[in-house]
Amino acid sequence: MAIPSGARFRVGGVHFAVVNDGTYWYDAGAIFGVVPRVMWERVQPELDDRYRMPLGLNCILLRSRGQTVLIETGVGGKKGDRDNASPASEGTLLTSLAALGVAPADVDVVVNSHLHADHCGWNTSEAAGGLLAPTFPNARYVINAQEWEDATHPNERTRATYLERNLGAIADHLELVTGERPITDEIVFVPARGHTEGHSTVVIRSGREWGVYLGDLAQHRAQLERTAWVSGLDILPLVSMETKKRLMEECIEAQALMIFCHGPYPGVGRMARTGEGFRRWVDEPPLGEGA
Ligand SMILES: [Zn+2]
Repeated sequence: MAIPSGARFRVGGVHFAVVNDGTYWYDAGAIFGVVPRVMWERVQPELDDRYRMPLGLNCILLRSRGQTVLIETGVGGKKGDRDNASPASEGTLLTSLAALGVAPADVDVVVNSHLHADHCGWNTSEAAGGLLAPTFPNARYVINAQEWEDATHPNERTRATYLERNLGAIADHLELVTGERPITDEIVFVPARGHTEGHSTVVIRSGREWGVYLGDLAQHRAQLERTAWVSGLDILPLVSMETKKRLMEECIEAQALMIFCHGPYPGVGRMARTGEGFRRWVDEPPLGEGA
């Protein structure tokens, strides 16, 4: 079955396509954290026989000021990368890009919201002889400096997801960032602490419109809608909650377009206020479908 990919959207004059790296199945209890199962299974009834739920792997391809920019690189396709995923899921990022006419060598900038293994798997690929190499040989990889430090010095809690195989081969291709950093004058890399210390979002601004790539601000839309539903995967859960609360208010105020990494493909929508303290995700229809 062909994996859908290439849905097109725009923020002002910036057009982008959602490129899909397939589906990732992950333990639902870990995602919902302290929220009791009797509450979360109403919003996530679909589980496999190992209590895993499907997560989208929505990466973004955009062109801005002559630069070809890829936001996030999914789970990847190297040996071991998809061992935790459902067997039905393939790593489709490169074929999704190819369907849009983009070869790995065409990408100028890769941005990782953070370095958990489901966000940077295609940073590297197996080259001749089984050695690992950057998948995007001409790209600079934009990463938060604190995130790089934490990923390359993991502790007992974090080492299961900060994998050397996604990191070592890009060491000479890094642009490490502290604070906010414009990628072009339309795209800004912005810290959004909580999921990890160095977790970041990507803000797209054009004219009076803006949009934001949320990274792992949440893994399920119910967590975006409910302030207190904080992921069990967050390293700093209370910071994550405050970051999310502030950003969701800003998104409602500006009617910003949100791109949700782990939402069902294509994971693009806006947040609507439905009452005092209540909000609801609304899917955005694509301008068109790609390949
Ligand atoms: Zn994730």
